[in-house]
Amino acid sequence: MTAKWACPKAFDMGMFLAVRAATPSLGESRTVPENQDRHNHHGQKFVYDFTEGNRDLKDLLGGKGANLAEMTNLGLPVPPGFTITTEACKVYLDSGDEPLALRDEVSGHLEALEQRMGKKLGQAADPLLVSVRSGAKFSMPGMMDTVLNIGLSDESVVGLAQQAGDERFAWDSYRRLIQMFGKTVLGVDGDLFEEALADAKSVKRVVVDTDLDAADLKKLVKQYKKIVKSEAGRDFPQDPREQMDLAVRAVFDSWNGDRARLYRRQERIPNDLGTAVNICSMVFGNLGPDSGTGVAFTRDPASGQQGVYGDYLQNAQGEDVVAGIRNTVPLADLETIDKASYDQLMQIMETLENHYRDLCDIEFTVERGQLWMLQTRVGKRTAGAAFRIATQLVDQGLIDEAEALQRVNGAQLAQLMFPRFDEDTKVELLGRGIAASPGAAVGKAVFDSYTAVKWSRSGERVILIRRETNPDDLDGMIAAEGILTSRGGKTSHAAVVARGMGKTCVCGAEDLEVDTKRRRMTVNGTVIEEGDVVSVDGSTGKVYLGEVPVVPSPVVEYFEGRMHAGADDANELVAAVHRIMAYADRVRRLRVRANADNAEDALRARRFGAQGIGLCRTEHMFLGERREMVERLILADTDDERSTALEQLLPLQKADFIELFEAMDGLPVTVRLLDPPLHEFLPDITELSVRVALAESRKDHNENDLRLLQAVHRLHEQNPMLGLRGVRLGLVIPGLFTMQVRAIAEAVAERRNAKGDPRAEIMIPLVGTVQELEIVRDEAEKVIAEVEAATGIELKLSLGTMIELPRAALTAGQIAEAAEFFSFGTNDLTQTVWGFSRDDVEASFFTAYLEKGIFGVSPFETIDRDGVGALVRSAVEAGRATRPDLKLGVCGEHGGDPESVHFFHEVGLDYVSCSPFRIPVARLEAGRAAAQSKGSDSR
Ligand code: ADP
Ligand code: MG
Ligand code: MG
Repeated sequence: MTAKWACPKAFDMGMFLAVRAATPSLGESRTVPENQDRHNHHGQKFVYDFTEGNRDLKDLLGGKGANLAEMTNLGLPVPPGFTITTEACKVYLDSGDEPLALRDEVSGHLEALEQRMGKKLGQAADPLLVSVRSGAKFSMPGMMDTVLNIGLSDESVVGLAQQAGDERFAWDSYRRLIQMFGKTVLGVDGDLFEEALADAKSVKRVVVDTDLDAADLKKLVKQYKKIVKSEAGRDFPQDPREQMDLAVRAVFDSWNGDRARLYRRQERIPNDLGTAVNICSMVFGNLGPDSGTGVAFTRDPASGQQGVYGDYLQNAQGEDVVAGIRNTVPLADLETIDKASYDQLMQIMETLENHYRDLCDIEFTVERGQLWMLQTRVGKRTAGAAFRIATQLVDQGLIDEAEALQRVNGAQLAQLMFPRFDEDTKVELLGRGIAASPGAAVGKAVFDSYTAVKWSRSGERVILIRRETNPDDLDGMIAAEGILTSRGGKTSHAAVVARGMGKTCVCGAEDLEVDTKRRRMTVNGTVIEEGDVVSVDGSTGKVYLGEVPVVPSPVVEYFEGRMHAGADDANELVAAVHRIMAYADRVRRLRVRANADNAEDALRARRFGAQGIGLCRTEHMFLGERREMVERLILADTDDERSTALEQLLPLQKADFIELFEAMDGLPVTVRLLDPPLHEFLPDITELSVRVALAESRKDHNENDLRLLQAVHRLHEQNPMLGLRGVRLGLVIPGLFTMQVRAIAEAVAERRNAKGDPRAEIMIPLVGTVQELEIVRDEAEKVIAEVEAATGIELKLSLGTMIELPRAALTAGQIAEAAEFFSFGTNDLTQTVWGFSRDDVEASFFTAYLEKGIFGVSPFETIDRDGVGALVRSAVEAGRATRPDLKLGVCGEHGGDPESVHFFHEVGLDYVSCSPFRIPVARLEAGRAAAQSKGSDSR
């Protein structure tokens, strides 16, 4: 009887990617004498010229390589070059050596490049220089940095100076090469170079690198070479081809670097993709003030607005523009610096947008007034911008509505529905971690679970701060508004459990030094003591000092009907969401219902677009003041006592149903008969034992408590999840289910009399065999017939069952004989198929399973297609074979999970049902699923 789906649940936007065991790194590679891998690639091509690839070859050429090729073929000015494939990388990673054919292929492509450029790599008089750039399918921080200016040596630096007529430029390029090569290929501590550079500047009493002249840089090169020699134990290689080959190998190796592995684990990127390597002829932004380098977006990635967004830096190379070494200027200023290049760039950005039909980000360099494109890709954007850009592109005629639907997803919509911190308040940012479970939480800092529970009981809002959490912290996590840890990633205990609870969580905020013993944390000198207020943003990973005001999401205001998409003050975001939801609703086949137990939730669900209730849990109607009646029911010794208790409950239940049917008038409402074990309605065994013992010691005998205690003992179960619950209760406790059926039937009759249109469906939980269902069904039909006779109204009630036990799924063909509908209870089905209880496993060992890659994502978040999903699929087929008009739905939490919604669409369910807050997400994803399958049908 968890309340888990009462709150908007977080989920992961990542696809369910099977994470294969890590490929062995160099050192631990197999020691097969004659290495098979290097030979078995006859005819396989390992190197592609930029003119040979295209953007669809990301698997093979990596994102950067594929897009460089695409731009080349669009006729844009890309410096010529070639790409070594991910396949070559995989061979290297598997065998510890480059594939045999690679060397020759690279030589061939290099020669062609040299011919085209009219110069040879590193040749003394007029050297060809290249950059060696990593580039995996997904852009991945933690991979090897790019090395620029490969081909420079003591000799060729002189030739370069002569050719360019600029000695300073040549030595600047050479010192950059040694610095980048030393750091990323030879593993020298980069700070040593930075310090030497800083020294050179301070000796000269200048602040920026451009104020160092050729002589200074020459000296610096000498120093750099010394650093390399003493740190790497070898000379900086003078042979240009050796430089290139070593750099390529270093890129391959960086695939298995610690940071890259960690990133892949967090983002669920498979370990076996490998990276491509791009060799690109150099163009120079450091040739003086008529040269420079920049980055740009084709539109604003935060708002989607079209315009000029980017930064530019004169007389600079590569990363200078983002490294903050000198002040950049806004891209718009390029218009006054170099109008021709600026105009050409604007033209190219338009070409790219029209070609990719999306926002692109780009890197470019201007060499003496000549513009060069160095990179592009479809740019990252905020969730809000994703919706806005999608509709803007529709309006521009670049994409159609079906495509717009594919440009956004449920995870982004969910993100937009969380309340957020007010951006207009002044805030003090404490630090940043991984956005593990979205939401905006404010509370007093506590550093242990005990305090979290104690303080929250006395009405305080708390944020539980730990280095990392473990199963002992569960109580504290439940009590806290939000959870903050300084260690661990998206699959850490804190992250997994918080997502399961729909609770805000930021993890792995490494700037925080958490000192649980002294109950404080330190962040860059600021000390936060127990009781200090902090604010945690689970959508961005940001942590603030003090209370940041929370504002409701405009998107929720819109769904709630408090803001209209067409109104003057409605913002562009709301209008975009409105339009995209409308497309989704138009194309989707799945209907979307709500899990709602009362009229209030039902009304909200309707506002959010629910087309009925897929699960109304009646156990909530047995709580509060009614508990006493339930106790009487449980304690009843005679049939009379029992019927009296039931008769008292009947009118109360009936009143609940009347309200609910009224709220959902005209739409189906599936009412599930009582499901949880009865002892959940009785007092806690320990509390009661103590109460009885104390009373006894005072000789104050309480007969009722004593009987209750006996009942608690009698009903106690080792494993309640698998005990006396669901249909079993209905069969064992005479009159219980029939009372509920009568309440439903009479409520329907009453609504009908009031000219309403109630559409109730009665659902029996935890059925394992058709016999159980038949017995309950016979009894229910009798009651319904009685009510019909008494009221003279035909009730049109339908009767069905949940499919939430493996046996039910396996015998679905038989069960369909007695059921007019199935609703897959995928929470229990997941528990029973896997043989684990969610509350126990999520808190204890799921983290280990996720980290070992046994799951890509928790099977409670996203349906396990191969196991649980297979049972659902076969039950759907068997059920429909028996009863072609069988209605099919799902009411587990998976009903609101994007990936799972796509699965339910695929297997042909009629509807999904989820918590009211997830309804828009389910609508959107149902639309996306339908549009996708239409797309693939027509292809
Ligand atoms: P990242 O993946 O980190 O962006 P890149 O391979 O794009 O790495 O290169 C780093 C920087 O060097 C970028 O600013 C890029 O534009 C620049 N760069 C890369 N190759 C060249 C080249 N051949 N000529 C000039 N600049 C280059
Ligand atoms: Mg780049
Ligand atoms: Mg269940």
